[in-house]
Formats: sequence, C-alpha cells, structure tokens
Amino acid sequence: MSTICWQCGKACGGCAWSDGLKPVEGWKIQHIKLASGDKIHVTACPEFVRDGMNHTPYKREKTPKGTRLTEQEMAYICLLRRQGKTYKEMSKMTGRTTDRIRRILRLKGLTKPIRQQRNVTPEVRQEILRLYAMNKDVSHQSIAEAVGFSQTTVSKVLREAYR
Ligand code: SF4
Repeated sequence: MSTICWQCGKACGGCAWSDGLKPVEGWKIQHIKLASGDKIHVTACPEFVRDGMNHTPYKREKTPKGTRLTEQEMAYICLLRRQGKTYKEMSKMTGRTTDRIRRILRLKGLTKPIRQQRNVTPEVRQEILRLYAMNKDVSHQSIAEAVGFSQTTVSKVLREAYR
C-alpha cells in the first residue's frame, strides 16, 4: 500500500508535511523500513483532500483476440488450399488478409496453385464447353467454380476450342 499523499490535493506544499516535512495533527502513519532508509506512509489524514485524478495503475491491454491464427484456422486454410481455393477466396472465407494466408501457406509448403496442377480430363473439358455453349455470356469464373478448376484453366480450354 502506498501513502495516501499521492492522491491528495495538498501533496505539493499544501500541508505541514508536504511543505516542511512536519507531522500533520491527527494523521495516522506507518513506518516503512527500506534498505535506502526509512519511509513514512500516511494511511489516514484529517487534511486529506482528493485531487480528483485517476490513480488506477496503467495496465497494458491484452492483445485483441483473434489476431493470432489458431492451429485450427491454419488447418482450415490448408484444407481450403488443397481444395484449390484462391488466396482471395480464402481471405473471404477466413477473414484473414491474402498476405497473411500466403505466409501461412509458404510455411506449410502449399504455395503452388493446386487446382491448376490437376489434369483437365475429357469429361471436365466437355462440361466446360457445355456450360459455355448454354450461355456464352457466362463468366469464366462461374464456369471455373462449377467445374472446380481455375479460371485460367477454363479460359485456356475455351481458347483452344474456339480458336
Ligand atoms: S494526505 Fe495529509 S499529509 Fe498527505 S499531503 Fe494530504 S494533507 Fe498532507
């Protein structure tokens, strides 16, 4: 416990003690023995006047929850990558930035675009062409999502077919 003088409006020369180190009549004190010398703690004082300041000790705020990726989140990001999701898609699904996701995947050795590594089977090619024939205004991205391949792959298939 510290002296109540630190919370008193008279601490800067407004009383006999703070002005001239003379005892205040009626106060209660405690002698504290320290290696550096004795110290007096005022525990009660009739002249005490609250200084109106906030004396709550400063506490460092805890790191906001969610800033660190949990193991579960990392596993989820890896799973999404294995499913062939793009950084942008993963960012939308996890609420993490694409940079953060890229860093995690680099650590896990999953930076290669998995979806593009898969071979386009004749069935997939046929499906891409069928979807495109149904509606030529459809975006390559929509077809990519429907067949589970990248937009680049879809564009490549269509380019080859309609050359
Ligand atoms: S608590 Fe009493 S001794 Fe301490 S500063 Fe205030 S008036 Fe002075």
